[in-house]
Amino acid sequence: MTKMLVEHQEPEDAETRRAIKPVICYPTDTLPPADLAGYQVARKHLTCTSTLRIPPREARSFTVPAGTFFRIVSVEGPQVGDLNLFNQHNLQERFYAGKTRALHGTHLSTGDRLWSTFPYLRPLATITCDTLDWYGFDADGGSVHDVIGTRCDPYTHRLLSGQDYDHCCHSNLYQAVRQTSHLPDPQAEQLVHDVLNVFMCTGFTRDTHQYFMKASPVRPGDYLEFFAEVDLLGVLSACPGGDCSSEHSSDLATCYPLEVQLLQPEPGILKDWRSPEVSGYHHPD
Ligand SMILES: [Zn+2]
Repeated sequence: MTKMLVEHQEPEDAETRRAIKPVICYPTDTLPPADLAGYQVARKHLTCTSTLRIPPREARSFTVPAGTFFRIVSVEGPQVGDLNLFNQHNLQERFYAGKTRALHGTHLSTGDRLWSTFPYLRPLATITCDTLDWYGFDADGGSVHDVIGTRCDPYTHRLLSGQDYDHCCHSNLYQAVRQTSHLPDPQAEQLVHDVLNVFMCTGFTRDTHQYFMKASPVRPGDYLEFFAEVDLLGVLSACPGGDCSSEHSSDLATCYPLEVQLLQPEPGILKDWRSPEVSGYHHPD
């Protein structure tokens, strides 16, 4: 493992340098406040207006009006989902997993927001309920709903194994985006972006800090719920890894469908809520 190779001797003050305390790169206490209490009131009385089944090893797209909620629900058995989110009216504004990770950490839960790409950088959605919030971080450093794993894809799979597999989450998301956007091939694939790994249990190993996965703790009935801050296009892949306990780019794992539920709050209950503005920053001329 090349990471462990040490070719240089420690300087005399190595321990002093290592002992410097970290500071948080992006303290979140100055983020524009979200009305989390208002969302909790609104979600008490939700009406399900439609449901969508995502078949195993496939992806489907769905739209969510701003000001309403949606849930990704585990049905039938433990299953991981890879989520892409877009501004429905401008597909260039899409979920920015890297900046969301920098702001909220490696794994997301209730109160965290899904931020959009530059130059927009605003919340596309806010997580309002997570039935797996009890899991926390386990003894291996693992947790659920990560923004560190990008998505399984046929290019890395071929790189590592020499094999081709056509139902990776990247491929599924690409097919769904292509059908929804009617864009030709290169543009459609370029819209696919790093995902929120819904229900997936992941972390970095303690010794080599490599990305790991372990069997998802999700069970039928569990869900992750979002409030749509803008009119959303969502695309969700039911990962070919199933619960991601062993493999993720083959037909070997047992896979189950996922369900997306669109949920409408009572009219007028979010009367003070406004869709967030895009970033006000402009480059100098
Ligand atoms: Zn996947």
